[in-house]
Amino acid sequence: MAELVFFSGTMDCGKSTLALQMDHNHAARGRGGLIFTKHDRAGEAVLSSRLGLSTPALEVTDELDFWDVIVRRATHGRRVDYLICDETQFYTPLQVEQLARLVDEMGIDVYAFGITADFRTELFPGSRRMIELADRTEVLQVEALCWCGRRATHNARVVEGTMVVEGAQVVVGDTGAAREGVVEYEVLCRRHYMRRMTSHAARAAAISAEVLPFDLDVCPLPVRRDAEESERRGATPDRRK
Ligand SMILES: [Zn+2]
Repeated sequence: MAELVFFSGTMDCGKSTLALQMDHNHAARGRGGLIFTKHDRAGEAVLSSRLGLSTPALEVTDELDFWDVIVRRATHGRRVDYLICDETQFYTPLQVEQLARLVDEMGIDVYAFGITADFRTELFPGSRRMIELADRTEVLQVEALCWCGRRATHNARVVEGTMVVEGAQVVVGDTGAAREGVVEYEVLCRRHYMRRMTSHAARAAAISAEVLPFDLDVCPLPVRRDAEESERRGATPDRRK
C-alpha cells in the first residue's frame, strides 16, 4: 500500500539528510524516484543537507501540478515508484492534495519533509494540509538544540541581529535580502523563543552582566528556591506534630 508520510521537525533537525538517505535506500532497491524541493538554501533545483551532501532535484513552483508532472512521466514510460518532497512547508495546500491523489490513485509512495511552524509559531499552509492528509506524521528523532542545550522546538527569524515575530511568512535566508537587512534563522527552545532570547542576545546579556556591577535579570529561570521554601514551609507544621 502506497503511503503519504510527513516527516516534520524544526530547522537543523536533519530533514534533508534523511531525505537524501531515503532516496538512496529506495534507489538501491531498484525503485524509480523523483526528488522535489523548494527554496533550498543551496539554490534552485538542488536538495542539500547541512552535512554537505547534495543531489539535483526538481524545483517546485507555485504553478507546478504534481499530478500532471507524474502522469506525463508515466505515459512516457518512465517509472515512478516514489517521490521525495523536501521543504514541503513551502508547497501550496493544493499541491499537497495532488500528492495525496498520487498516493491513492497511482500507488506512488510520497515521503514529504518539512518544518511545521513558521517564525511566528503559526503552521505553514502546506504543512497544515500535510498533517491533515498524511497517512502518518513522524517527528524526526534527530533533535536540534537551542543554545541553552534544551530541545529546540521553535524557529526564530533574526533580522539584522534582532529577533522578529512579525513579517511575511516566507523570507528565505541568505538570498536577495541584502536591501532589507540580513535575514537569518535560529532554532530555540520554547522558553527562549517566548523571551526572544537568541544566542546573540544571550551573549550580549552575559557580557553586559559582567560589565555592570549588578546582575541583570535578563532571563530568569524558574525560581526553584521559592518552590523549595514553600515546600519547607508546608512541611514545617508536620514536623511540629
Ligand atoms: Zn533555550
